[in-house]
Amino acid sequence: PLTTADLIEEHRICVCVRKRPLNKKELSMKDLDVITIPSKDVVMVHEPKQKVDLTRYLENQTFRFDYAFDDSTTNEMVYRFTARPLVETIFERGMATCFAYGQTGSGKTHTMGGDFSGKNQDCSKGIYALAARDVFLMLKKPNYKKLDLQVYATFFEIYSGKVFDLLNRKAKLRVLEDGKQQVQVVGLQEKDVKCTEEVLKLIEVGNSCRTSGQTSANAHSSRSHAVFQIILRRKGKMHGKFSLIDLAGNERGADTSSADRQTRLEGAEINKSLLALKECIRALGRNKPHTPFRASKLTQVLRDSFIGENSRTCMVSLLPLLISYVHVFLSLPDYITFNY
Ligand code: ADP
Ligand code: MG
Repeated sequence: PLTTADLIEEHRICVCVRKRPLNKKELSMKDLDVITIPSKDVVMVHEPKQKVDLTRYLENQTFRFDYAFDDSTTNEMVYRFTARPLVETIFERGMATCFAYGQTGSGKTHTMGGDFSGKNQDCSKGIYALAARDVFLMLKKPNYKKLDLQVYATFFEIYSGKVFDLLNRKAKLRVLEDGKQQVQVVGLQEKDVKCTEEVLKLIEVGNSCRTSGQTSANAHSSRSHAVFQIILRRKGKMHGKFSLIDLAGNERGADTSSADRQTRLEGAEINKSLLALKECIRALGRNKPHTPFRASKLTQVLRDSFIGENSRTCMVSLLPLLISYVHVFLSLPDYITFNY
């Protein structure tokens, strides 16, 4: 059987879905869960055992992905099949990108950043930290040790088309493109890191920066894309880069007429950037020469990750769970797979 690494080798992109466990509130609502994952690459959407007649909208349907993770899957497992193979990519002078995509509340931040829900914040089990751990392990291998690579981390947020440095008190940053189409985020802090613990501290700092100073912290963070990067440098020159992205919530509603002007603008910006991302990923999957990266700040900033022979992407789509999102299920493949 093909491994994820083979799939990525073939397509340069791997698309996985993850279903999180229902929480207490959702469980108490009963039978709203319409998704099952019967095997490791299949998602079934089926009629719930209650009055809502989903068959009015669709027959029981199955969708296939590179991997489908059910609600018993840990972050470590998701990581092993998605981002883990891409750690090698950056050691081999490549560009790697891993996205978490889904509605607000679907588990993007839990998957990427770790657990920030309770008092005891634990970011050691998120994909950011797991990737950092393996980067430091790889550095010790004789092959790579002799390259004398340095590791740096950046953490920034893109909100309404503007870039803010989460490791520098949310300083607003400019994005510049030079004549050679090199894109630069001017002044972005690249922190030199020597071990996983140092990375964990940065994730905590960045995350608290992401959610503080806002009237409604969660509402704000779900309207922005967070980008955490691990950069390998050799004698100051970029060797490889891993971008791990907790995307803004893809829910509709933010762009409806009932919302206030600011929220509508935010929603429009998010839709624009997610659409641009889809286009870029499609271009990548089909090895198209032209990638429309200029269409949004997100894709512009990630430009160097979409081009070049040696770029690899994985997409972790967090499944919508509730029947109230029936409109989502109607277009599930389109909505999630970035059909490549
Ligand atoms: P998002 O970032 O997509 O808005 P979160 O990651 O904040 O969603 O998740 C919403 C809630 O669900 C949080 O309280 C989080 O701890 C919980 N949660 C998400 N995924 C899981 C999971 N796989 N297992 C247990 N709890 C989860
Ligand atoms: Mg979140």
